[in-house]
Amino acid sequence: MLKLVTELDQLLAMLDLPNDLLQEVNIPMHQFPLRVPVEFVKRMQKGDPNDPLLKQVLPVKYENESVINFTKDPLGESGANKIPGLLHKYHGRVLVTLAGSCVVNCRYCFRRHFPYEDNQITKDRWREILNYIKKDASIKEVIFSGGDPLLVKDGKLKSLVHDLENISHLTTLRIHSRIPIMTPSRITDEFVEMLSGLRLQSVIVTHCNHAQEIDSSVVRAISKLKNSGVTVLNQAVLLKGVNDSVKVLKDLSEAIFAAGAIPYYLHALDKVQGAAHFDVSIEEGRRLIAELEGLVPGYLVPTLVCEEAGAKSKVRL
Ligand SMILES: *Cc1c(COP(=O)(O)O)cnc(C)c1O
Ligand code: SF4
Repeated sequence: MLKLVTELDQLLAMLDLPNDLLQEVNIPMHQFPLRVPVEFVKRMQKGDPNDPLLKQVLPVKYENESVINFTKDPLGESGANKIPGLLHKYHGRVLVTLAGSCVVNCRYCFRRHFPYEDNQITKDRWREILNYIKKDASIKEVIFSGGDPLLVKDGKLKSLVHDLENISHLTTLRIHSRIPIMTPSRITDEFVEMLSGLRLQSVIVTHCNHAQEIDSSVVRAISKLKNSGVTVLNQAVLLKGVNDSVKVLKDLSEAIFAAGAIPYYLHALDKVQGAAHFDVSIEEGRRLIAELEGLVPGYLVPTLVCEEAGAKSKVRL
C-alpha cells in the first residue's frame, strides 16, 4: 500500500521540525499540493529544515512570486502535443504521458502546470497513439512518461506493452519514472518478469537528485531490474540548495553507480513558473561539470542539458 504524506503539519511532525516553518510555506496549492511518500520522508534528516530531500517536496512561499522568463509551459509542449497523450518532438522516439500524476510532487517539476486531465489515456486515445506509431516507421522507441507511468497497474502495462511489441519497427521501450527511487516496492516480480520477456530492449530512466535518496530498498529494486536485462540510467535536475555543489554531484554519481545505474542527464532547470528559487545559472552548471570531470571517470559524468522549445534534441550545454 502506497502511504503518502499530504499534510504539512504531519510532515513537519515526522521530521521533528517546528511548526513555525509553516509561515514559510505556501498553503493554497490546490493545483500542485504537498505530496510525498512516507518511504521517502524516512530518508530525510530529522530536525534539518534544509534537508536536500525535504527541499524538493516542501511548498514554499517563493513559488507564488512571478519571475520574468519563468512561464507555465516553458517547453512549448502544448504545440508538440499532436495527439493528446503523445509528444513527438525528437526523431525516432515518441513520449507517451501514461499517468496523470506522480507519487510525489516535486516543487521544481516542469510539468506542474501541464494539463494532464486532458491527456488521460483512454482506450480510444491509445488506439490513436498506436496508429500514429504504426504509420511512422522512423519511430524506434516509445517512452512511457507522465506523470509517473509506473502508477499504472502491471496488468494494464502488460497489455499496452503487448500492443507495442506487435509493431515491428519498434526496437526499444523506455520508462521514465521516479518510482524506483520514491517507492521501490513498486518494482514487483510481475513487472520485472514482464520486461525480461520482451522482444523490445527495455530501458528505465530513474530520477534521483541526491545520494541520500538511495537506500537499500532502492538498491534492491535497481538490481532486480538489472538482473532482468533492463538498462538502468539516471537523470537528475540541477537544483539550488539540493545538489549544486561538486561534492554532492560526485556523491550522487558514485551512489547511482554503486546501486547499479549509470548517470545519464543532468538537466538545467526548466523555467517553469513557481520554480525560480531552484535556478542555478548555466555558467555555474558548466563549472560544476568541469570540476566533476576532474574527479570521477567519464562514465560517471552526466551530460548537462536543457530543453529548448523547437530544438531537435535536448541541448548539450
Ligand atoms: C526528453 C524527451 C525525450 C527523450 O530524449 P532523449 O535525449 O532521447 O533522452 C523524448 N521526447 C520528449 C518529448 C522529451 O521531452
Ligand atoms: S517525478 Fe518527475 S514528473 Fe513527477 S512531479 Fe517529480 S519531476 Fe514532475
